Amino acid sequence: MIIDIHGHYTTSPRQHEAWRTRQIEAHAAGKAPPPRPAITDDEIRETITGGQLKLQRERGTDLTIFSPRAAGMGHHLGDATTSEAWAAACNELIHRVCALFPKNFIGVGMLPQSARVSPKNCLAEIDRCVNEYGFVGINLNPDPSGGHWQDPPLGDRYWYPVYEKMVEHDIPAMVHVSAACNPAFHTTGSHYLSGDTTGFNQLMTSSVLKDFPSIKFIIPHGGGAVPYHWGRYRGLAQDAKLGLLSEIMLKNVFFDTCVYHLPGQELLAKVIPVDNILFASEMIGAVRGIDPETGHHYDDTKRYIDQLPLSAADKAKIFEGNARRVYGRLSAQIAKQTRE
Ligand SMILES: [Zn+2]
Repeated sequence: MIIDIHGHYTTSPRQHEAWRTRQIEAHAAGKAPPPRPAITDDEIRETITGGQLKLQRERGTDLTIFSPRAAGMGHHLGDATTSEAWAAACNELIHRVCALFPKNFIGVGMLPQSARVSPKNCLAEIDRCVNEYGFVGINLNPDPSGGHWQDPPLGDRYWYPVYEKMVEHDIPAMVHVSAACNPAFHTTGSHYLSGDTTGFNQLMTSSVLKDFPSIKFIIPHGGGAVPYHWGRYRGLAQDAKLGLLSEIMLKNVFFDTCVYHLPGQELLAKVIPVDNILFASEMIGAVRGIDPETGHHYDDTKRYIDQLPLSAADKAKIFEGNARRVYGRLSAQIAKQTRE
């Protein structure tokens, strides 16, 4: 089985995102939000069959771990109330996709975060996602302010209620920022990669992984700058007397393969142990074009893994085994959804 652990519902029905615009406009005007739009099963089916499902089939992948559109989370917009309603709407929609295509999609939830609002706010939505929707993970935004970094770093006890919940449910968090509202950052070009890199560094210099020995984080987009600069982080950890980087980080921190060229994948596989790499493409996402050098889509990342000089057993870990290990609820959820 080939499991793509990083997909977002970037093709959701138009009225869903349109409602979000009206919700934020109403909030700015001090008015109540309009009622949520009706979305039929057929409308959802249409957005998936012509999109993510088509690409799964073309590229030879089987299952996508699927979450709401990341840039659309927009935790910097509105307030805690609008975030709560929007996260609920987005997660419910992901649940409907998974119910309509149970063999192809398993859900991951976005959180109702807001800048400078305690993440305790998110606990009820995490419970709902896991208990009612069968989701197997969460996306945790380390910067709900959208590029201004106004919340404490991930090592701060501020975030511990979420970590306690992750451990309770045995779900990992993908450290994933949303859109940048700071014009200094390009959302997918620099804000995402700096969010990944910053999240890793914050965890490295904290006691989170000691305080929660079984917790698991995924650093997406190939780990941002981290694998390329692994020597820098090893040295920083050493200078700060934190211990050996691989020993302090690699029981809990994993990297996905959303790197859009072969040399990047080669480096990732050379630097990061195979047990810590999870296959992912983030299709249909940040980069949608075709690479003229290869004639294939940049985000068709399976092609790069296929070309790596690894054994079949190691590739099976990247494609399937590691995902089943890191997402503690995944195998049971696959069995459940396959029976349905
Ligand atoms: Zn993403």
